[in-house]
Amino acid sequence: MQAYQQQYLKEMGIDVWVDRQAEEVLNVSEESVVSNASENIVTERVSPEPAAQPVQIFPEALATLNKEVSTCEKCELHTSRTQTVFGIGNPEADWLIIGEAPGADEDRQGEPFVGRAGQLLNSMLLAMGLKREQVFIANILKCRPPNNRDPKPEEVVACESYLRQQIDLIKPKIILAVGRIAAQNLLKVDTPIGKMRGNQYQYPDSELPVIVTYHPAYLLRSPREKRKVWEDLKIAMRLYKELS
Ligand code: URA
Ligand code: SF4
Repeated sequence: MQAYQQQYLKEMGIDVWVDRQAEEVLNVSEESVVSNASENIVTERVSPEPAAQPVQIFPEALATLNKEVSTCEKCELHTSRTQTVFGIGNPEADWLIIGEAPGADEDRQGEPFVGRAGQLLNSMLLAMGLKREQVFIANILKCRPPNNRDPKPEEVVACESYLRQQIDLIKPKIILAVGRIAAQNLLKVDTPIGKMRGNQYQYPDSELPVIVTYHPAYLLRSPREKRKVWEDLKIAMRLYKELS
């Protein structure tokens, strides 16, 4: 790991990522890891008002798709959303990060992974030497399920073609699926996520490799699992190196 990556992680209060050399850090009580992390990574969000969609200039085809998604009524989630959350990042990214669905912060801001879990996702990316702007981040569902309930199968089916079109346009080299919902729906399996970790999968009907890891929201509740996630991210980095 590069020195700047370690430094960054230290500043974020999550030096648990710095695996082997950091045994003693991993002994830090879960509580202090959580409070440290939250002190350092939680951004205050005071405005309850919905924000405008993030300003991002996409190439034409992706912009057209974004526009189509923004008025989509293919499932019932269109009735309760504030706005759609299409995805954000480099339209030619090598890395595509896929989560579950927008939460309250994302629904308000129109951007994926902007809440606490998003801050931790940013740290995970930085630990891999990737800036948020360098990758593309999207979700299985583009609209927020009420009360953050799990997506319904019919919602996933209704929304699926948008993600596939995003993948066709962005042409990433590798997908990182974060969390059970993303992994199972992307790969059409019902294997528990703990069993999926450590394996390499392929996005259906393609050669595109998929690596699976835990969701950052889960890590906020179970900071000890960061060590496993770091193992997964290393697998992904190794695979990416082999591909390029
Ligand atoms: N969790 C997700 O899976 N996606 C988001 O965009 C935010 C939280
Ligand atoms: Fe359309 Fe997907 Fe939103 Fe459902 S979740 S309304 S399919 S964009």
